[in-house]
Amino acid sequence: MTQTIVIAEMSNNAVHASTAELVSAAIALGGHPTIVVPCTDASQADGAAGMGADSIIAAKSGAFSHYDASGWAAALDAVAPHGTVITGASPQSKDLAARLAARRGLSVVQDAIAIDGNNITSPVYSGKAMQTVSATGPVVVSVRSNVFEAATGGATDASVVATDGDVATSVQEFMARASERLDVSEANIIISGGRGMGSPDNFSHLEAIADTIGAAVGASRAAVDTWEAIPHSMQVGQTGKTVNPNLYIAVGISGAIQHLAGMRSSKYIVAINKDADAPIFQHADYGIVATWEEALPVLHESLKGMMG
Ligand SMILES: Cc1cc2nc3c(=O)[nH]c(=O)nc-3n(C[C@H](O)[C@H](O)[C@H](O)COP(=O)(O)OP(=O)(O)OC[C@H]3O[C@@H](n4cnc5c(N)ncnc54)[C@H](O)[C@@H]3O)c2cc1C
Repeated sequence: MTQTIVIAEMSNNAVHASTAELVSAAIALGGHPTIVVPCTDASQADGAAGMGADSIIAAKSGAFSHYDASGWAAALDAVAPHGTVITGASPQSKDLAARLAARRGLSVVQDAIAIDGNNITSPVYSGKAMQTVSATGPVVVSVRSNVFEAATGGATDASVVATDGDVATSVQEFMARASERLDVSEANIIISGGRGMGSPDNFSHLEAIADTIGAAVGASRAAVDTWEAIPHSMQVGQTGKTVNPNLYIAVGISGAIQHLAGMRSSKYIVAINKDADAPIFQHADYGIVATWEEALPVLHESLKGMMG
C-alpha cells in the first residue's frame, strides 16, 4: 500500500471530526493514511489522535492562522509527503485541493461521494449525472462529508514539522461570521426556507425547530435575494453552498435545479410545500403538502416530544 495524505479539516484552529471520515476515504483508496494538520501550534494536532491514521504530522506555520489559498498550498506542499492527497469538500478545502493539484501536477477529483478501489465517483452537471474516474496514479481528491464512516484508532502522537513554503501572501484581516448559528456546511441536519416563508421574520419558526433538533438553518437564493436579513452565507445551491447532511428539510422551496444542485445528495430529504406539484417533491423521501403555517407547529411539537 502507498502513502495517502489526508489534509485535516480545520475549524477555528481545531481538527474537525470529519477528518476521520477522510481517513476512511484514504483507506478505501488503498493507502496508508497520514494526517497532515495545518496548525499554528503543534498541540492543535492532538485532535487528530485516534482518527485511524498510520501517522500524524503537525505542520506548523504562521500561514495557517487564517485560510489563504496560496499561502496554505505553498506551506502544505513544502511539508506533505508525495502521494494521493485527500481533502474535505468545503469551499475552502476544494480551493486548497485545486491549488495543491496544480502545484504537484496531479489531477483533481472534486466532491467525491463514493470510492471503490481506484474508482472515484462524483456528481457533475449540478448533480444531474455521476462520473466515475479511475486513478492510475496519485491524485488529489476532495471528499464530501457524511459519505464515509469515521475511522478510529491508529496514531495518537504527531511529529512536528515547521513549514512556510514560498508563502507569497498572508491574511491581513479576518472577520468572523456574525451569526453564532451552526453553518449549513457543517451540519448533519439542515432546515431551509424559501420564498414561500413569506417574510424573513418567519425564519424564526425554522430557527426554533433548528434549536430543538440541533440543525442549521439554510435558505434558497430567492429568499437570500429578496430579504436582506437572510445572508448569502445561508444560501444552499449552485451559487451557494453544497451540503450533504443526513436530513434536509426544505420549507416553502419549489425545488429549482439550481437549489437541488446544492442539496440533492442529502441522505433524507423532507419537503413541506403547499403546492403538490412543486418539483421538490420529486426528490423528497417524505413530502408534506401543506402550508408551513399548518405544518411547522405540528412538526415542532412532535420533534420536541421526541427530543424529550
Ligand atoms: C445562475 C443561477 C444560479 C442560481 N443559484 C441558486 C442557488 O444557489 N440556490 C437556490 O436556491 N437558487 C438558485 N437559483 C435560483 C433558482 O432558479 C430559483 O429561482 C430559486 O431556487 C427559487 O427559490 P424558492 O424555491 O425559495 O422560491 P420559489 O420558486 O418562488 O418557490 C416558493 C415555493 O414556496 C411554496 N409556498 C408558497 N407559500 C407557501 C406556504 N405558505 N407554505 C408552504 N409552501 C409555500 C410555493 O408553492 C413554491 O413552491 C439560481 C438561478 C440561476 C439562474
